[in-house]
Amino acid sequence: MGSIGNDTTEAAFSAAALQDKYREERDKRLRNEGLSQYHSIEEDSLQHFAKDVWSTAVPRDGVHEEIDYLVIGAGYSGMLLSVRLIEAGITSIRIIDKAGDFGGTWYWNRYPGAACDIESYIYMPLLDETGYVPSEKYARGPELYAHSQRIGRQFELYDRALFHTEVDNLQWNDLTKRWDVRTNRGDHIQARFVTTAGGLLHKLKFPGVDGIDHFKGHSFHTSRWDYAYTGGDCDGNLQGLRDKRVAIIGTGATAIQLVPQLGRSAKHLYVFQRTPSSVDVRLDQPTNPVWARGLTKGWQQRRMDNFNIIVSGGHQDEDQVGDGWTDILVNLSVSGQKVAASQKAADPIKAAKELQDTMQMADYRKMEQVRTRVDSIIKDPVTAAALKPWYNLMCKRPCFHNDYLPTFNRPNVTLVDTKGQGIERITETGIVANGVHHEVDCIIYASGFEYVGSDYSQRMRIVMRGRDGISLNEHWADGPRTLHGLYTRNFPNHFIMSITQSAVAPNFTHMLNEQAKHIAFVVCESLKRGAATIEPCEEAEEQWVQTIIRLGKLREDFLRECTPSYYNDEGKISEKTLKTGRYGLGSPAFIQLLREWREEGFLAGLEDGHSSMGTVTEPIALDL
Ligand code: NDP
Repeated sequence: MGSIGNDTTEAAFSAAALQDKYREERDKRLRNEGLSQYHSIEEDSLQHFAKDVWSTAVPRDGVHEEIDYLVIGAGYSGMLLSVRLIEAGITSIRIIDKAGDFGGTWYWNRYPGAACDIESYIYMPLLDETGYVPSEKYARGPELYAHSQRIGRQFELYDRALFHTEVDNLQWNDLTKRWDVRTNRGDHIQARFVTTAGGLLHKLKFPGVDGIDHFKGHSFHTSRWDYAYTGGDCDGNLQGLRDKRVAIIGTGATAIQLVPQLGRSAKHLYVFQRTPSSVDVRLDQPTNPVWARGLTKGWQQRRMDNFNIIVSGGHQDEDQVGDGWTDILVNLSVSGQKVAASQKAADPIKAAKELQDTMQMADYRKMEQVRTRVDSIIKDPVTAAALKPWYNLMCKRPCFHNDYLPTFNRPNVTLVDTKGQGIERITETGIVANGVHHEVDCIIYASGFEYVGSDYSQRMRIVMRGRDGISLNEHWADGPRTLHGLYTRNFPNHFIMSITQSAVAPNFTHMLNEQAKHIAFVVCESLKRGAATIEPCEEAEEQWVQTIIRLGKLREDFLRECTPSYYNDEGKISEKTLKTGRYGLGSPAFIQLLREWREEGFLAGLEDGHSSMGTVTEPIALDL
């Protein structure tokens, strides 16, 4: 390996040395327990952390009804699906969520400083349809939540919603060809179609250490912010912390937004870090009203597509979003294109290897910039060294914030770097890390959520039984089995909105919108053809699983080299990891694949009972 100049600093770095350093840092963090290292919110002693602190639930009678469509989840995915179904003429819809309103992530995550860090013009759903233009490039939590309510009102979703309600049982009835749905509020619903749209960030997890329930001070998880204790609001000014020693555990995307607020308000703040995040500049700016007035129909979809193609390594003449995400990927893809051009003439295996090396060098260069930025901001060299991330950029979620790093220059803020080991235990009065006890009054868990690696039914907290009583756990005993990530055999008329065996895009709502449109299409088509049920046939499901594994193997080496995180099942990569993964050719290719599948008109791979679905008979109503 040679060395390459750093664009920003002119300093040279050795790729070989960086590779060694990355491995050394990864190895410090690898743990035998993998995903099972965490405490689950299901544990009795932790369940109180999940209580809905915003709840205004009132007693109500159970609902007994027959409907066409049940949508489980009232976050952005459930809302997008409901809107696309209504547009397609399916109006008998019930939406159920344990939260007290629409919003999902943005209902729960109201911590001070919460904001999207994907540009709001592409992240907030249905902007074209609602005519709403966000107030700034990175909208804050309250605006994101209010937009959910706007969608709820505009598309008359409120009348269809049952809030403060958890579906706990889904059972397929093959005689009635309906799903029997039971909830914790005594509802009994029979639904022709069901979608589980439970979101990714709703089941809290906690560090796998002893003592969480012994702490005698105050503690809560970031997604259940306790303003009664901290005072202040989403903009900070947390008066209640003025005389408090506060600890935050975790330095992921949530903590990056929260730490500046805590640093400003707490008497003393201890930030317990296991792995530093990569933190780049965030180009905050208010919306330009002249630009907003000039937007024409279809602007949001065009902007979403432009962003998605760029961040997937493709070329666009114009970078419409122009932020940290596109900057990174433009950098990576431009380098890649050079090698792609030489691929036609050269030995393809050699060319593929060269492409990988080129992308890797671009990644090293980007991460050197991120680390250089740390040095340029942090005054204390020991703290600066601890805040530098040593892994490839896409091993963890990249973060963007202008105030996070400067917070560590404050005299009332201490970084407790655990050098990859994590905290050791929690006591009645504080936290032990690196063998040192830190006395605190308040512990804030920024320790994240159960992600795709965990069992789907458990994460959804629903017992799901399909044909002949088979449970989803049984059908997925060796890992998820789907067609396009959207439906699974033996679970007729059941759709899943998730990233498993589907595609992942940094702008998550883009993929949700594509899934919602696709599901609405499939449902309409099956109804038009008079199908009683739809589900994937065995061969199509198996083929898709094999496609996911085969393409997943292309990423396997990359994932193995990564520092542990939920991206790589905490470093324990197995065939199940690959099966749980994404479509390996990227989200633009996946979107194209779905589009071509629809246009073919065969509903290929789906069947009604044991018959294939035939061809499209008349033009569909949806504008796809
Ligand atoms: P994460 O899972 O990303 O972070 C959890 C943190 O807890 C990590 O820093 C982890 O360390 C740390 N941790 C876990 N166990 C221990 C331990 N024993 N000792 C010390 N530290 C520990 O959760 P977040 O809530 O930060 O983010 C979840 C996701 O939410 C993000 O990935 C992102 O997708 C989304 N998000 C998006 C935002 C946006 O603006 N769009 C804002 C906030 C969140 P380690 O890294 O070593 O595992």
